[in-house]
Amino acid sequence: MSKTVIIGGGVNGASIAYNLAKLGESVTLIERGYITDGATGKCGGGIRTQFTTEETCRIALESSKLFDSLAEELACDIELRKGGYLILAHSDKELEEFKENVRMQNSIGVPSRILTVKEIEAFGVEPYDAVGASFCKMDGVANPFKVSFGYRDRAKELGADIRTHEEVRKISYNGGFEILTDKNNYGADFVVNAAGYESKKIADMLGVSLPIEPYKHEIFATEAMDHFLDPMLMSFSKNFYISQTVRGELVGGYSPLEAEPTEDLTPTLSFAIRAKKLFEEHLPQIKSLRLLRQWAGAYDMTPDALPILGPAGYERFIQANGFSGHGFMLSPFVGRAIASMITGSERYRDLVSSFSFERFKRGVKREKGVVG
Ligand SMILES: Cc1cc2nc3c(=O)[nH]c(=O)nc-3n(C[C@H](O)[C@H](O)[C@H](O)COP(=O)(O)OP(=O)(O)OC[C@H]3O[C@@H](n4cnc5c(N)ncnc54)[C@H](O)[C@@H]3O)c2cc1C
Repeated sequence: MSKTVIIGGGVNGASIAYNLAKLGESVTLIERGYITDGATGKCGGGIRTQFTTEETCRIALESSKLFDSLAEELACDIELRKGGYLILAHSDKELEEFKENVRMQNSIGVPSRILTVKEIEAFGVEPYDAVGASFCKMDGVANPFKVSFGYRDRAKELGADIRTHEEVRKISYNGGFEILTDKNNYGADFVVNAAGYESKKIADMLGVSLPIEPYKHEIFATEAMDHFLDPMLMSFSKNFYISQTVRGELVGGYSPLEAEPTEDLTPTLSFAIRAKKLFEEHLPQIKSLRLLRQWAGAYDMTPDALPILGPAGYERFIQANGFSGHGFMLSPFVGRAIASMITGSERYRDLVSSFSFERFKRGVKREKGVVG
């Protein structure tokens, strides 16, 4: 049995810890703050399979299926609601691209389809400037806190050592890894870097340079109203998404199309004003609703907007980062795939091969289905 140290207690670190513990591995997870302290606790909870690259669609599909039985597996209510994702097309050109995407998605088993303006209206959504949409009924939302805490609790029961409020300060390699925190010293055969946008800083400790940059994204929650919105409503070209929670609140995010990398995650008033106005164009039902709170988090963006899964620099220095705004929806798959990689199984090898660190040398097609 090998010993693994996971750095980062977001949904991916927690999922990997659970999946390793389930396979009987020795695992320690180290989180600087609390579980969900990073992007996971700021996330919109969306789960979708409608992407523009086949590689991403394949792992998103695998992950979406795992979400269906996750509540049972983790023995907790994860507030999973599969009302679909409705992605608006605002021009004929965009709609043509969506038709291409849908053809590719259908060819690998994603049951997406194109909607007319009339069909958009049937979802209680005002088309406004939309000329059509793509929709997939197997998409939806779940609660990122409940999913993460479920993984943490089951991992603990299976013997994982979960350390919170402890910061990794230094890592060295001399045949095995030595991890130095502000409180302890750990030895490990494998290190998993699941530190979100700060994964770059973790890799720097071992002299490995990851192409990850932090991009700020803002999001709000309104007061609750009677349920009227089943799908997650999204727009790539207007850069927004909004859904209604099981409690009736509307949770929506919007980002300016032009942005620079930053670690300053201060929420802004201009976001709240702009976003509310944008959503009201498509959801007039929310006009009288008040915003209750707003916050911001960071996407860990890679140059092609695809995650990094697998070794970098050292055979046993495993990356689970660079999620570029889709890390929550991929987490059930990521936990299984990384645990499988560490235990030497070939099961997910083909699916993860497109996401290797090595790809940056050859370059791959950019994932364009990103709100960010
Ligand atoms: C506003 C917003 C909305 C989003 N909406 C969605 C969505 O609808 N669907 C979706 O799939 N994704 C969404 N995302 C993206 C998603 O939140 C992330 O991709 C995902 O949560 C990443 O999880 P993670 O476990 O990889 O990283 P994180 O949750 O960022 O966890 C990394 C952890 O590492 C810890 N850490 C960092 N450095 C150290 C250190 N030195 N020592 C110890 N610990 C350390 C941090 O404290 C942090 O808790 C959204 C993100 C944002 C910001």
